[in-house]
Amino acid sequence: MRRKKRKISRKSTAFLVALVVLLAVAAVGYWYFFLRNKPVSPTGGTVKTGELSIHFLELGNKYTGDCIFVKIGDCDILIDGGSRASSADTIETYVKPYCTDGVLEYVIVTHADQDHIAAFAGNKTYPGLFQRFECRTIIDFPKTNKTTQTYQNYVKERDLEVEAGAVHYTALQCWKGEDGAKRSYELSEGVSMNFLYNYYYENPSDDENNYSVCMYISQGENNYLFTGDLEEDGERELVKNNSLPHCKLYKAGHHGSKTSSTEALLSVIRPEYVCVCCCAGSPEYTANPDKTFPTKQTLERLLKYTDKIYVTTKATNIDLENKDWDFASCNGNIIVRSDGENFSVEGSYSSEIFKR
Ligand SMILES: [Zn+2]
Repeated sequence: MRRKKRKISRKSTAFLVALVVLLAVAAVGYWYFFLRNKPVSPTGGTVKTGELSIHFLELGNKYTGDCIFVKIGDCDILIDGGSRASSADTIETYVKPYCTDGVLEYVIVTHADQDHIAAFAGNKTYPGLFQRFECRTIIDFPKTNKTTQTYQNYVKERDLEVEAGAVHYTALQCWKGEDGAKRSYELSEGVSMNFLYNYYYENPSDDENNYSVCMYISQGENNYLFTGDLEEDGERELVKNNSLPHCKLYKAGHHGSKTSSTEALLSVIRPEYVCVCCCAGSPEYTANPDKTFPTKQTLERLLKYTDKIYVTTKATNIDLENKDWDFASCNGNIIVRSDGENFSVEGSYSSEIFKR
């Protein structure tokens, strides 16, 4: 039987056209308001609001240095700024897609060594990070022995940011809860940043590294520990003076140096994952391959607790005689993600665990 051809009336054509237009407007609107500004991760995914991510950055050069970006919902935190002023370009390029409003809610500067402050200090060619981002709260080290130009530039840049409206505290003020500073900052629901007591906030040390700001971020059961370049004696005091939690993640102290990540600390924090910011195997600080970062001794100590060790960068074409080398990604930028339940570590170049 032949089907009856239904005549499409003008009315229903108009209705269909209106529906298509409406759907198109809705789709464009959805894209504009919800998807347009979503930061795209190096692997192409998007960062969900409320999700915590910790990024251990490669800094675009062959030198060892720390720079860690933390994002928790709309709260953006930068810990340290690498070893060269030029890294300010690398850091800005990486962070801006995540930090879409250009505001860093917290900047933590652990200590005054060049490999932690250079991109904040900046220079004539590379404006420092305080000029590139609006920083709300800057928390840095109470003590230093430094008088270098880089340190002086850092202080100048920091103080200009304070004049522009930023708040500045030392980690000691935070620990004591003085002058409006807090020992614990709530970053998002169930996520806090907690400053620890470092003996060397108040006592002199010959080793600049011991002045490092120490803190951990707590997300439900998970804790993520950052101790800058704290050395063995600093770690001993840290354990003595604080009730340290077990740590899901630990940024290896002092780039994996054998003088940090000591058993005294590891036996308490019992890390499950370890991230090392360094150019592995580079002769930057020593010609002895046994002592390059991350050292054999450190790895052996860590392996008692975990083999989930990740390293940002590695040295290639090492020429010991001329103390020269090139660099390549090891894991690359290391991205740790957690919503409190699901936890993952991914490298922008490789997600393989580190083998020396
Ligand atoms: Zn360092």
